[in-house]
Amino acid sequence: MNNLTLLQYFEWYLPPNSLLWTRAANEAKYLKQLGIDAVWLPPAFKGESLDNVGYGVYDLYDLGEFDQKGSIPTKYGTRREYQHAIKTLQKQGIKVFADIVLNSRIGGDETEIVQAIKQDWNNRLQQVGDKVEIEAWTKYKFPGRKGKYSDFTWNSAYFNGIDWDERTQQSGLYLFDGKAWDSKVSKENANYDYLMGADVDLHNPKVREEMLRWGEWYLATTGVDGFRLDATKHISSDFYSWWLTSLRQKSGKDLPTVGEYWSNDMSELGKYLQKTGNQMWLFDVPLHLNFFKASRSGDQFPMNKILDNSLLQSFPDRAVTFVDNHDTQPSQGLDSWVDGWFKTIAYSIILLRGEGTPCVFWGDLYGIPHDEIGAVPSLKLLLKIRELYAKGPLHDYFDHEHLVGFTREGGEGNTKSGLATVISNSKGGTKRMYIGKDFAGSIFVDIIHGNRPTVMIDTDGFGDFSVPNGSVSVYVSETAAKELFFSGLSSI
Ligand code: CA
Repeated sequence: MNNLTLLQYFEWYLPPNSLLWTRAANEAKYLKQLGIDAVWLPPAFKGESLDNVGYGVYDLYDLGEFDQKGSIPTKYGTRREYQHAIKTLQKQGIKVFADIVLNSRIGGDETEIVQAIKQDWNNRLQQVGDKVEIEAWTKYKFPGRKGKYSDFTWNSAYFNGIDWDERTQQSGLYLFDGKAWDSKVSKENANYDYLMGADVDLHNPKVREEMLRWGEWYLATTGVDGFRLDATKHISSDFYSWWLTSLRQKSGKDLPTVGEYWSNDMSELGKYLQKTGNQMWLFDVPLHLNFFKASRSGDQFPMNKILDNSLLQSFPDRAVTFVDNHDTQPSQGLDSWVDGWFKTIAYSIILLRGEGTPCVFWGDLYGIPHDEIGAVPSLKLLLKIRELYAKGPLHDYFDHEHLVGFTREGGEGNTKSGLATVISNSKGGTKRMYIGKDFAGSIFVDIIHGNRPTVMIDTDGFGDFSVPNGSVSVYVSETAAKELFFSGLSSI
């Protein structure tokens, strides 16, 4: 997974026109040209409704094949279109990561009467009142699929709890009688097993057996290369260790996997990595939150601390770095959108340092029409620079509150590679940085801003690299810059 460049191929407000898989296939070649070598596709399962983004899962075996929940295709297309997109991407040498959502189900076919005990939302190990009888949407029979691929149907025995009583039309956190919340989950709200819908009991042996059988079916049906695991803090830490190990053994594939564990606490993330036996990478949530804070603090954020307490700093080999995603975009659950002026700065940090695995967000590459947000300036250029010139040893200069930078010495088979990045979140300035003695006498130019003074590397291998106010400058050698422009690569 290291050295991959991932693209999150969706944002929250894509139209529910079932055309995403087709677009992915059509764009495969273009994505490769951009320097993308792995895409994370959104959940491909039939959701509770056509416009569901994919996290409200109804039927894991319906990838847009059966007339269920009002349509045959999902929000993104049909099963055949999905399979075609995966094959087409793979033909271009692009790996495909599937989004796996096993924590809960939504849109049950029928209700049943269940004994339950209400729990306090803020202290979920605290019972509120006596046992009550509720009417819960826990029967999943998949009438449109009629047992194809699996005859497993669901009932309350396979769930831990739910948040709605149909009979009294009351919401509440209902733990089913005889069940306990999974213990190996996040300790937020005392126990964060429950997230939404009907919470799946992933400790139930029959459920486990079915989830493994489904995993094998899904791999065989789609041929995906790896996984993005949704909501892992709400799922017992031993579940995915077991599931991934079993699937890797059965399939003989590596199945690179990145988990979404939403926490700003490095020690909690470190513990989760340990508990899951380092079988997955994790999204670098703390780094994203550093970017978010820095972008909202103007020149008040100490840029020398921008990498502090991040996965990138503590476990670079396990970090999937990102600037934003479908949950952090405006009006979504986490709403920690990185302000526009800081985006190019943040992308230069995740794309050019050669540490961690960067994941570019659809909304930053293409924009988000719903919120009239445009694409991030220079993002495509940074992707190209990452692919061609971000090579060789890294030298950090995170030594000033408002003016920081880093260089790459180049090499790794490309004589034109090597770069210098200098960042300011306040007044611009000049930073003296070492880029390598081999470059003595070479001229470097800022490829982000066309109008900066060029830099000549001195005999000791240092250059004086400047940056304008509140911005980032990326310098590559004059030969590299010419190559970029004359090849048309800079205008993809
Ligand atoms: Ca759960």
